[in-house]
Amino acid sequence: MDSNNGKTSEPLKLALLGYSRKDFDHITQLVNLIDLGRPLKLSVGDLSKMHKVDCDLAIAILDNISNLDTYNKHVSLVKQESSNPPIVCAAREADRQILESYRIGVKTDHIIFMPIQIERLAAMIRRFGSGASGDGGRYDAAPPDATRTVIAPSPLRLGELFLKKGLITKDDLERALEHQKQNNMYIGDALIDLGIINEDQKLKCLAEQLKTAVAAPRQYASVDLNVVALIPEHTARRFNCIAIERHGNELVVATTDVLNLNMLDTLRDMTDMRITAILGKKDDIATSINRCYNDIASHKDASRLTEDMDDRVEYVKRKEKENDNEEEAAVAGAELGIIKLVNILITNAIRDHASDIHIEPMENELAVRYRIDGDMRKVMSPPKQSHHAIVARIKILSDLNIAERRLPQDGRMAVKIGQREVDVRVSTLPTIFGEKAVLRILDKEAFEKNTASLGLTQSDERIFRSQIAKPYGLVIVAGPTGSGKSTTLYSALQAVKNVAKNIITAEDPVEFHMEGINQVNVNTKTGLTFSVALRSILRQDPDVVLIGEIRDGETADIAIKMALTGHLVFSTLHTNDAASAIARFTDIGIPPLLLGSALNLVAAQRLVRKICPKCKIEYKPPAELIESLGLDPEKVTQFYKGSGCVTCNGTGFAGRTAIFEMLQVTKNIRKLIIKNAPTTEIQEAAAAENMKTLRQAGVELAVNGTTTIEQVLAATVEI
Ligand SMILES: [Zn+2]
Repeated sequence: MDSNNGKTSEPLKLALLGYSRKDFDHITQLVNLIDLGRPLKLSVGDLSKMHKVDCDLAIAILDNISNLDTYNKHVSLVKQESSNPPIVCAAREADRQILESYRIGVKTDHIIFMPIQIERLAAMIRRFGSGASGDGGRYDAAPPDATRTVIAPSPLRLGELFLKKGLITKDDLERALEHQKQNNMYIGDALIDLGIINEDQKLKCLAEQLKTAVAAPRQYASVDLNVVALIPEHTARRFNCIAIERHGNELVVATTDVLNLNMLDTLRDMTDMRITAILGKKDDIATSINRCYNDIASHKDASRLTEDMDDRVEYVKRKEKENDNEEEAAVAGAELGIIKLVNILITNAIRDHASDIHIEPMENELAVRYRIDGDMRKVMSPPKQSHHAIVARIKILSDLNIAERRLPQDGRMAVKIGQREVDVRVSTLPTIFGEKAVLRILDKEAFEKNTASLGLTQSDERIFRSQIAKPYGLVIVAGPTGSGKSTTLYSALQAVKNVAKNIITAEDPVEFHMEGINQVNVNTKTGLTFSVALRSILRQDPDVVLIGEIRDGETADIAIKMALTGHLVFSTLHTNDAASAIARFTDIGIPPLLLGSALNLVAAQRLVRKICPKCKIEYKPPAELIESLGLDPEKVTQFYKGSGCVTCNGTGFAGRTAIFEMLQVTKNIRKLIIKNAPTTEIQEAAAAENMKTLRQAGVELAVNGTTTIEQVLAATVEI
C-alpha cells in the first residue's frame, strides 16, 4: 500500500552498551514496553569489550562520571569500529549538574538521564534510531518477526489500530496515508483532516498505542493554579501544554504531543521535576491555558495586595481608636492595588458570564463569589484587611456615601472594558462582619435579546408576538424571582418600540437603559411608589407602559384601567403558573369583569440551564420515569446530560434558556374569567385549547436534548 512499507517493517537495531547489569535491566525493561510501531531488535553488551556492533542506534551508559575518560575512549572505539551509529549517552540524574553546567566533554550525540521515562526513551529512539524511515514509526503495520535478544511487544501502528477497531476502512487508511505524505503530518491528524475519525477517537487510540492516559475534563476543571503556575505562561503557550497534577516530584502535563522531546526537556529543566506527559485535546488545553493563567494573574494581584496591606493594617488600627477611618478607606479606595483588584473582579465576572458579584465579609476572611447561570461559585478570597478599601472603591465608583456603613445603599456604575461599556448595579448591606456588597452586572446583550432568542418555540413566539402587537390590553409575565421575566418584557418593548409610540416604564429599579424609552425609577422610600408614578405616567399620554411588577391592589387597579383605556400594558406577577395569575388579580380586589376585559395574555416562565454542547452525552432513563412524565417509552428512550468538560468548567451546563406556558385569553377563557371560574377550570379549558404547561414545555426541551430532565423537574412543579 505504501512504498515505504518494506523499509519500515524492518526491525530497528538498538544496541545497549554499558558496564553494569543493573542499568541494563532498567533500560531493557523500558525498551520492552515501548511501542515504536515497528519491530525492535535489542542487543546488549559490555561497553569496554563490545566495540564492533551492528546497530542503527546505540545507547551507551555512563554509570560513573569519574570514569568519563575511559567512557569517552570506549565510545570513540564503538564509533570507529562500527559504522558510526548515533550514540546516546545515558547518564545518571545525579551527574546532570556536572555535565550540564561545566560542559564537560562527553562523547555523544545526545544525553538522557536515568531513571529514564518511557516516553522520552521512545521519542529519543524515534529521533535517532531511524535513518531509513524518518517518520515511519507512526503507521503501517507488519507485526514484528521473532528476534534474537530482547524484543518489544507486538506493536500495532496507529493506522492499523484504527483499522482493527473498525473505525476506518483499508480504503480510508490508504487515502490518509496519501494525505499524510502530501502534508507531512501524523496519520491520526490526516484521518481527522479528512473527516474520517474525530479527535476523541484519535486520542483514545494514540493513548493505547503510547500507553499513556488522556486528560479527563474534570482534571482541567479541578486543576490547582499553584501547579499550573509551575510552568511559565509563555512556555505553556509555546508548546500548548498545561500542568494539571503534581505528585511529589512528578508533574503531570497535558499536551497534544507527548513525544516532543524539546518540550519535555524544557519543562524538566524549568521545573526540576519529573515530567509525565499525558495526552489532551488541543482545544481543551488552549482553553485551560487562557483561563488558568488569567486567574493566576488575578491571584497574584490579590496576594500582592496582602503584602501592601501589611503596613497599612497597623496604621489603620492605631487611627481607628481616635476616629472612624473613613478618610483612610477613601484613600485606600483610590489605591492602585485596590483599583486593579476591583477591575479584575469585574472583568473576570464578565468573562465568566456571571450575573452577580458578591463581596462578603466573613468572620475571618473576605469571600468573593460569582453567580453564574443561577449558581454561586467562590472565586477568590482577598485579604480581609482589604475589605474596607474594596467596598470604598466600589462606593466611590457608584457614587455612594463612603462614610455611611450602617445603612444599606444602592447605586450604579458604568465600567468600560475595552470597547465595551457594562452597567453594574451596586447594593451594599451592613452585616455583622461588615458591609456586604453585591454588584449586579447588567448584560446589555441579554436585554437586547429579540423575542426570537428568548427560547420561545415557534408557536409560542407567534402567540407572544401577536399579543404584544395589539394596540391595548394587559400582558403579564408570571414567575418567581430570577425566572427571566424582565428579559422577556424588555424584548417585548424592543419589539413594539418605534418612533410613533410613547413608551414609558416604571421600574424598581431601572435595570437597563433603553434607547428611545422613558424610564422612571420607582423609589418607595421617597414616596414615588408604583401607583404614584403610574398616575403621573397616565398624564404623559403613553401608548405602551411597562410596570416593573404588580404587587398591590392599587397598582393592579391602575394597570387594568390603563389597559381598558387604550394602552398596551406589560407587567410581571409573582405566581407559579399562568392560570394562578388570574386568581391573584381577583384576590387583590380586581373585579373579574374588568380583568376579563383587560387581559390579553399571561405567560408563565422559568429558566433552565442548557446542556454544554461540547460534552453532551445521551443516557437511558428508567422506563417508569418516562411514563411518569406522560411520554411514550416506545418513542422516547433517552435523555441527555453534560459529562463536564473544559468549556463548561466541569459543570456540564452552558447558559440558560426559558420555558414558557402561554395562556392566551381567548373568547372561552375570557368568559371563564368574567364568571370568576376556579383556577383548575381555567387550566382545563386552556389545556383543551392546546396550551402547553411549563412542565410539558420543559420535558420537550429535555427530550430534544437542550436541557436535562433534572433541570426541568426542579424548575417546574406539577400540581
Ligand atoms: Zn461541557
